[in-house]
Amino acid sequence: MNILIIEDEVNLANSLKLGLEENGYDVDLAFNGNDGLTKALSQKYQVIISDIKLPDITGLEFCTLYRQYNSETPILFLTALGTTEDKLRGFDVGADDYLIKPFSFDELLARIKVMSKRYNVQSNIPTLLQADDLILNMDSKTAERNGIQINLTAKEFDLIVYLIQNKNKIISKKEIAEKVWGINFETGTNSIEVYVNFTRNKIDKDFETKLIQTIHGRGYMIKDK
Ligand code: CA
Repeated sequence: MNILIIEDEVNLANSLKLGLEENGYDVDLAFNGNDGLTKALSQKYQVIISDIKLPDITGLEFCTLYRQYNSETPILFLTALGTTEDKLRGFDVGADDYLIKPFSFDELLARIKVMSKRYNVQSNIPTLLQADDLILNMDSKTAERNGIQINLTAKEFDLIVYLIQNKNKIISKKEIAEKVWGINFETGTNSIEVYVNFTRNKIDKDFETKLIQTIHGRGYMIKDK
């Protein structure tokens, strides 16, 4: 069973991971809300544990964004704030349970067991890849930006997937030719450039933030936090 922990206190995150792994769970860690959201959307987790006070987006904001795409995976908040108001706000944005720090590990284990029982298979929850406001649905092979559907051909979709899976890295035309098209890159051909430009017209033209960057003489990159 996969669990995602979003917690900026590194020692706490690591010790929870260790403890849960000793109890047979697979655990991924994120140390801020944005990384947590990227991980939560791109993999299937049975339970997500999130701190509320995080360095970038708060746990509540994470939960609000995540619930737009996934209404089923249970979320448990960890919080030092124990007021009724915070508890209610957590439930308002779609959390399932919460624990007040400091808590005992056995209590956390018990809560996880209850939450995961409520929740069995999530076959109908899509796997999503995200960069900025671009969301790719890996099951339906569809793309949207800021809620607007973008029609991509199969290869254009694969190209964006490859760039997002390698985001913040420069990807050469040669690598794109080999990994996305499965062809040998012939020097002198500009077909990759043409395809990237087609894709860019669909992904970036009508949006303020340009996702596909050209790194002159080296290739392309999608930048994201
Ligand atoms: Ca914190």
